[in-house]
Amino acid sequence: MKVLLLGAGGRVGTALAPRLRAAGHEVTEAGRGHTTEPAGHDAAVDFTRPDAVRANVERCLAAGVPAIVGTTGLSEDDLAALDAPARERGVPCLVVPNFALGAVLMMRFAAGASRHLARGEIVELHHEGKLDAPSGTAKATAAAMEGDVAIHSVRLPGLVAHQEVLLGGEGQLLTIRHDTVSRDAFAPGVLLALDRLDRLPPGVTRGLDAVLEAG
Ligand code: NAP
Repeated sequence: MKVLLLGAGGRVGTALAPRLRAAGHEVTEAGRGHTTEPAGHDAAVDFTRPDAVRANVERCLAAGVPAIVGTTGLSEDDLAALDAPARERGVPCLVVPNFALGAVLMMRFAAGASRHLARGEIVELHHEGKLDAPSGTAKATAAAMEGDVAIHSVRLPGLVAHQEVLLGGEGQLLTIRHDTVSRDAFAPGVLLALDRLDRLPPGVTRGLDAVLEAG
């Protein structure tokens, strides 16, 4: 596929571009201030910044280019603003807070466990360059769990992306933990999303689960 990679010079973008090319995709790299025309691309992939992603993706969808959004920090208003042009143009817009397959499984296990162990809290730990807090993964995990789930955010050097879901019961504690130790963790999920993008409905779809289930 011909892929427009927005945020190609970033931490994720630099890890992702060679993986996309190795899988046979033709990649157009775009950074801050780019003037690349989205039309003519088969898909756009955005790993930019919370304050840049909405305008970027709106331009792609308006040009009828399906989008895969890895950038976190989009509000409900932002998602509604992307849903409308995507439906209008009949193209999918996949928004995934975490492309690491292990993290998707962590979210599933946490949602299932919270039905039996009612008290849960989340500790999410990320590198100090991460701009949004709490993380998109932590918010999505909490939303899928039963009860009010408090989220604690840690930003420190030495971390990449990590999350612990703690579930407390009488005399016991269950901990579900996922560690992303390298940004290579995101490539298989993005490649799978590109492969299955045409199976998704027009409009915004949230989470990698929809892609896994589309198999
Ligand atoms: P990063 O290192 O700051 O990279 C962001 C890149 O986007 C930078 O190269 C930046 O350029 C560029 N950029 C800024 N504005 C732009 C624009 N309007 N158009 C195109 N490019 C633009 O951040 P990162 O660590 O790669 O993370 C990127 C995003 O992905 C964050 O929101 C992060 O939370 C998220 N993330 C998601 C996942 C997932 O699995 N969904 C995994 C990891 C990270 P400048 O340096 O010039 O500003």
